[in-house]
Amino acid sequence: SSRIFSGMQPTSDSLQLGNYLGALTQWVALQEGNQAIYCVVDLHALTVGPDPAVLRERTRRTAAQYLAAGVDPERSLLFVQSQVPEHAELAWLLSCHTGFGEAGRMTQFKDKSGKQGAEGTTVGLFTYPVLMAADILLYDTHLVPVGEDQRQHLELTRDLAQRLNARFGAGTVVVPEPHIVKATAKIYDLQDPTAKMSKSAASPNGLIELLDNPKVIAKRIRSAVTDTEREIRFDPVNKPGISNLLTIYSALTGRSVAELETAYEGRGYGDLKVELAEVVVDWVTPYQERVHAYLDDPAALDGILADGADRARDIAAVTLDRLYERSGLLARR
Ligand code: ATP
Ligand code: MG
Repeated sequence: SSRIFSGMQPTSDSLQLGNYLGALTQWVALQEGNQAIYCVVDLHALTVGPDPAVLRERTRRTAAQYLAAGVDPERSLLFVQSQVPEHAELAWLLSCHTGFGEAGRMTQFKDKSGKQGAEGTTVGLFTYPVLMAADILLYDTHLVPVGEDQRQHLELTRDLAQRLNARFGAGTVVVPEPHIVKATAKIYDLQDPTAKMSKSAASPNGLIELLDNPKVIAKRIRSAVTDTEREIRFDPVNKPGISNLLTIYSALTGRSVAELETAYEGRGYGDLKVELAEVVVDWVTPYQERVHAYLDDPAALDGILADGADRARDIAAVTLDRLYERSGLLARR
């Protein structure tokens, strides 16, 4: 039995299909036989300067989507990051072990701070990967199920863990491994199939937002950018649009990509898009019903999250005590 930890940011009203296929389906699968801990990382979402009321609503919506996807709060631990203060406390400690240049090499920071450069961004966005390392190391995590875009942050987390063990003695923290499932590790934007699908993308037209109107979802799939050939073939280099649609189709139906290529031999892109849109709508409709059932009872939802935070704190406090003690801080009480 391994300890599993992962989280998502409440940066949108809805998760997008990449979050579901790249991470959430793995979360659900890994609950079996493991000790899984899943977090809504609201402190991370503060890096994008959200409206307070909107952030609170999105935090509940994100938790409801974990539950609707199959995260089971009886078997696993489900909570909100800001309700366990040890995350922010460990992040400070880790920031004192992180090189400034090391943090500066994180490509997500470069992408997200974008054209504004260092002057237009915040220290919080810069130290985001350090907080993420704290999230993971607090729970003596073995495996972190994430999408491909988080691989570099996981590498930093591992480097920090090894550094702490070298400095303060073997066994100070567990060195975690990423759990990245290749087939669905990176779902692409439907309008720009060379860019990652992201819930906070500048334009929503290339997104499949799981809580969107199913008619809009179907329309976005039918409008997906493809190429000028006719052949339905998995070839991510030359046919990124078609390959992305085949990846999504395969992941949602369990049919292999090879089987889909055969089934669509001699047929047009239009057929593939229309039929994939049906697959997505058939799957997303009951998912939306489950999400709304959780959102209709916010007191019950908040209760699940508060209970999860209590249980998470019991684990997090032990790790932080150990790290404080080894760092030479006086014992916490
Ligand atoms: P944001 O634009 O706010 O960063 P996001 O869509 O990237 O939103 P995150 O909350 O940053 O979502 O990430 C949640 C999880 O979803 C992470 O494990 C991440 O690796 C995974 N993920 C995000 N986008 C994709 C994608 N396009 N394909 C596969 N996995 C993804
Ligand atoms: Mg992201």
